[in-house]
Amino acid sequence: MNYSGIKYTDMINGEGIRVSLFVSGCSHHCKDCFNSDTWDPNYGSPFTEEVENEILNYFKKYDKSIKGLSLLGGDPTYIDNIDPLVKFIKKFKDLFPNKDIWIWSGFTWEIIINNQKLLSLIELCDVLVDGKFNIQEKDLNLKWRGSMNQRVVDIKKSLELKKVVKYID
Ligand code: SF4
Repeated sequence: MNYSGIKYTDMINGEGIRVSLFVSGCSHHCKDCFNSDTWDPNYGSPFTEEVENEILNYFKKYDKSIKGLSLLGGDPTYIDNIDPLVKFIKKFKDLFPNKDIWIWSGFTWEIIINNQKLLSLIELCDVLVDGKFNIQEKDLNLKWRGSMNQRVVDIKKSLELKKVVKYID
């Protein structure tokens, strides 16, 4: 898996102060995507163990001030990104069980819950921003998403109640 960047002390992508990892690879190709360079899975740099440790060490150092980890892209649920991210998140959760994990996906909740591979990654996270960016429904006032069709989903509650429970409207 490649990544295009890491934003430390990010206050835009999720609640609170976060560390955001932008991975490469996306199969959705939404019209007017803000970040089309990252569609290519080879864009950016390899996400090596050294990079993983850099992120983990940052959390160790600033444990109290960072609320959690955000995974964006590209698409973190791009097929080749799933296994490396599952591995990394498991390591992350072992060390920081109280931090939350937010993830963005071009797939909808309904597609994800019917696909075991996608679910293996999503079920390790806390909040999902789902669905493709739709230029017809673009709204600059929305929090954490670009268009009205996208939802901010509470993953644990949605799995428990077997229906979409929104984290915010
Ligand atoms: S899912 Fe995201 S990264 Fe992929 S094309 Fe759509 S807006 Fe761009």
